[in-house]
Amino acid sequence: MTGFTQQGDRADNTQSGTVFKRDQQLSGWRDLNYQETYVCPVCRHGQIAALTLMDAFACDFCRHIFTGNLLEQSIHVEDSSQPMTWRWNGHTWKAANQLDLDLTIVVWFVGLALVLLPPVLIWLSSHTFPPMQGSTWAWFPTVWISLTFFTHFTFVGWLLAEYYQVPAYVTCKIRLRDALGRR
Ligand SMILES: [Zn+2]
Repeated sequence: MTGFTQQGDRADNTQSGTVFKRDQQLSGWRDLNYQETYVCPVCRHGQIAALTLMDAFACDFCRHIFTGNLLEQSIHVEDSSQPMTWRWNGHTWKAANQLDLDLTIVVWFVGLALVLLPPVLIWLSSHTFPPMQGSTWAWFPTVWISLTFFTHFTFVGWLLAEYYQVPAYVTCKIRLRDALGRR
């Protein structure tokens, strides 16, 4: 009788297991494991797949290496200047990394200073010694201030993209590297 009940339980379990699997497939949910491939959290372009005989993943596009933690359903990038971790929620990656707060403050402070200070200095000097009214070079300070602002803004934008490893930026960087390498 007990044996029968156990068998019945097992049948029930298998059945609910099958239902669970089917639900997974229907909702597109899947867990993090070493048998499947996932979109790369760094470049959001390539696919990461497990390396043979290792608890690690590698991206086929940006070539980053990640160590996996299946218990926590997370991966950690091993060959990047930024220590970054992502957690798999069944559909997509969620950033779980703690960027160094002190460094973040320094990056933003230096960035703001680099963007604002030089144009303000030029603006100050052009207001202290304004060009003569109607002279041929009267337009020069305005153009020079705008140019200074945009070049510094681009530079700081690049710094922040590198610091936060913005996926679109990483993809562009690898494309550019490939294009230059192919020549
Ligand atoms: Zn990648």
